[in-house]
Parts: sequence; C-alpha cells; structure tokens
Amino acid sequence: MGKILLLAIAVWLLLSVLKRYRSSLETSAKQGPAAEDMVQCASCGLHLPKPDSIQKNGRYYCCTAHSNEPGS
Ligand SMILES: [Zn+2]
Repeated sequence: MGKILLLAIAVWLLLSVLKRYRSSLETSAKQGPAAEDMVQCASCGLHLPKPDSIQKNGRYYCCTAHSNEPGS
C-alpha cells in the first residue's frame, strides 16, 4: 500500500514539473526578440513601435498632431 502511495506522489511530482516546464517554455517563446511591442494610432490606424508612440488618455498616437485631434 505504501509503495502505491509513493508511486502516486512520484507521478504527481513528475506531472507538476512537466507542467511548469511547458508553461515556462511558452512564456519564453512569447518574450522573444521578434515580439516587439506594437501599438496602433487611435487617429489614423498606423502601426508603430510602442516606444515611438505618443500616449494620451490611455490611447496611442503616431504623432503629436494626431494626439491633439479631438474626438474619435
Ligand atoms: Zn496617426
């Protein structure tokens, strides 16, 4: 009986380690160098890198002229 319990714990440990390993693989793939943070201008729809964008009221714009536009 004790052996079965030990085996069950061993299998559970193995599965949890595998699960963690798989999720760490997925997150590292998402944070690759190719996955640059791109945002879209709320005014004209242009895609540009996040560091180059202008952020205003929780929206992103490609230039100051668009960020100052009212509405939309
Ligand atoms: Zn724009």
